Amino acid sequence: MAVGVWVLPDQLHAGQAALASLPVGSGPVLLLESEASLRERPHRQKQILFWSAQRHFAAELTAAGHRVELIEAPSAAEAVPAWVRRHRLDELRLMEPADRPARRAVDALELPCRLIWLPDNHFLWSRDAFGRWAEGRRQLRMEFFYREGRRRFGVLLQDGEPVGGRWNYDSENRRPPARGLQAPEPLAFDADAITAAVVDKVERLAQTVPLPGRSLPFTWAVTRSQALAVLDQFLQERLDDFGPWQDVMVSGQPSLWHARLSPYLNLGLLRPDEVLQRLEATAAERSVPLASLEGCVRQILGWREFTHGLYHHFGPSYPGLNVLEAQQPLPAFLWRLGGSGMACVDTVLGELAASGYNHHIQRLMVLSNLALIAGWDPQATTAWFRAHYVDAHDWVMQTNVLGMGLWADGGRLASKPYAASGAYIKRMSTYCAGCRYDPKQRTGPRACPYTSLYWGFLDRHAERFRNHPRMALMVRQRDRLSGADRSGVQEACAALEWGPAPDACGPAEPSA
Ligand code: SF4
Repeated sequence: MAVGVWVLPDQLHAGQAALASLPVGSGPVLLLESEASLRERPHRQKQILFWSAQRHFAAELTAAGHRVELIEAPSAAEAVPAWVRRHRLDELRLMEPADRPARRAVDALELPCRLIWLPDNHFLWSRDAFGRWAEGRRQLRMEFFYREGRRRFGVLLQDGEPVGGRWNYDSENRRPPARGLQAPEPLAFDADAITAAVVDKVERLAQTVPLPGRSLPFTWAVTRSQALAVLDQFLQERLDDFGPWQDVMVSGQPSLWHARLSPYLNLGLLRPDEVLQRLEATAAERSVPLASLEGCVRQILGWREFTHGLYHHFGPSYPGLNVLEAQQPLPAFLWRLGGSGMACVDTVLGELAASGYNHHIQRLMVLSNLALIAGWDPQATTAWFRAHYVDAHDWVMQTNVLGMGLWADGGRLASKPYAASGAYIKRMSTYCAGCRYDPKQRTGPRACPYTSLYWGFLDRHAERFRNHPRMALMVRQRDRLSGADRSGVQEACAALEWGPAPDACGPAEPSA
């Protein structure tokens, strides 16, 4: 029986289930470089990362003895059935993709052979195990899932109890920016010949398809060994200060102490279990502040596994949720990646244009927060995030943007909406000092759009949140505004004219 394997673009690890099922050299292995993917991940840095990492992975598999073909084609439909016929395959094996639309796209192909799906082995929790944990619970909260994960996988435990006596050190990890904060530079890699060829291809395609962002400089890791070097540098130079400064935003320092491991974890270049083991090994070798160590473990063993589990547990109806009935179109400045006139937004979008990356708090409290309080359409917002971030995949974004950022699921994921005024951004960033707006003002010519929209959001949803345990206080503050003040806020919100995005900018659904 002739058997082949198709490795999807975010499954770049030699131990992935479909590859592992095929004895080395016994059947052909396909990797596909599809131009159709430009519609779903148009940011140039993202496309270069995906294609370059895939080409490097193909070369590594070939060196290991696999019979690899990397095919450049307009789409999967135009390449895969012909490849199957050429090799006279009876069976094509794939590992289950983390993204639902990718599975739908493969299922829609008319393949002249049997298709075998193997379970995804790139997460610590299988979908079944997550389902068993979730079954019968009235509320699914990350904190309880995370503690269960610590016990189940034996991470940061001593005699069955959390190291240090507490499960959670978040309260120590919320410092505002101190004067003169200076983080180590993230590890940067020169483009080799493979990456340079991909850059040329993306630039050529950008002449016919609108692709946001800049191709160069391109400094992301594109191989497993480079990704391991990024992990090493994080453990030695960035981990200790990761915790206290994880919520701050500083102009001119797009990475701060963030690990920047998510692109590699999500492509398969790093495994979550090895990152956790290295974190614990580092703490065994030298003294690491527990709040930083636990904060990092929480991201990988907690949030990453939790959002992946929820994405599959909630199922295909989840992306359709829009509990707050948010229907505003995305503004044009999002697609231009700048030009909003707000210093915070333009700083964040400028960094995104250059690298395809913003750290978590920039995404949550600058961009998602604005989308939430301005009432942008949840699916359009989610698709925009998925299109632009190097670590964005459907399974990541549906939960993180739609659930956590926009509260479009009515609180199934986050216990409250992350709505904040300009006062929060002023406290946690250095952005406001260079802005033409005043974060304290909600009306008038210098009113900060965040502050106007925040009060407008509370006004719009006052009845919904009046008895909400974590929102009622804010609604009572809104109730104390005078009638004139509330009308002023509404006028300030209505006066924000950002202009909608042109139709051609919308990204497509993820495909294979
Ligand atoms: Fe952003 Fe408002 Fe601060 Fe300007 S004043 S940087 S718009 S939060």
